[in-house]
Amino acid sequence: FFITFEGGEGAGKSTQITQLAASLRDQGHDVIITREPGGSSGAEAVRHVLLSGAAEPFGPAMEAILFAAARSDHVEQVIRPAIERGAVVLCDRFLDSSRVYQGVTGNLDDDFMRELERVTVNGMVPDLTVILDIDPEEGLRRASARRGTDAPDRFEKEALATHRRRRKAFLEIARAEPGRCVVVDASMPADRVTAAIQRAVEQAMVR
Ligand code: C5P
Repeated sequence: FFITFEGGEGAGKSTQITQLAASLRDQGHDVIITREPGGSSGAEAVRHVLLSGAAEPFGPAMEAILFAAARSDHVEQVIRPAIERGAVVLCDRFLDSSRVYQGVTGNLDDDFMRELERVTVNGMVPDLTVILDIDPEEGLRRASARRGTDAPDRFEKEALATHRRRRKAFLEIARAEPGRCVVVDASMPADRVTAAIQRAVEQAMVR
């Protein structure tokens, strides 16, 4: 069973993934936690380039292709083998982050993005996508509190309006694909977010 987590900066994805993994393991599931960009050794190397200042001069198409290269390796090396052995895979960001970050706010052509998605996902469509929805101002506050004195990554430094467009784009995906996506209000206390996610996962896993 393949579950992806999406949302803006500081939505609490990694905290919630850790909580969900613990409860699924208590129920006896084999669970792996992974993330994008990254998740396999090749993809982690690409992540390093993408999130550092080195990627700043790259154009949006080059950036999208690098994210796609990382995803393809991650799907084939990590996600597909785990799903085939019956594990539950929890992935921090996946195809919707590309649609939103590269497609919507990178202003890339829809056909180009759809084709990239088709070849990189290669059939490995999530069974459930949890979209953690948060006001970007609150999310960025949380992200900066978590980061402490480390420098913000290049995406956190973008304008609030850009973060707002992404929030809207995630919600539009959820509306368009209600069978795959569930939106959870990430401004609630963490334990209530956890409970809402657990309910959604239980419902999806019996479907
Ligand atoms: O999940 P996390 O916030 O650690 O993601 C790392 C960064 O990579 C984020 O700032 C996100 O904006 C960016 N990203 C992206 N396109 C993707 C996946 C992640 O721009 N497809």
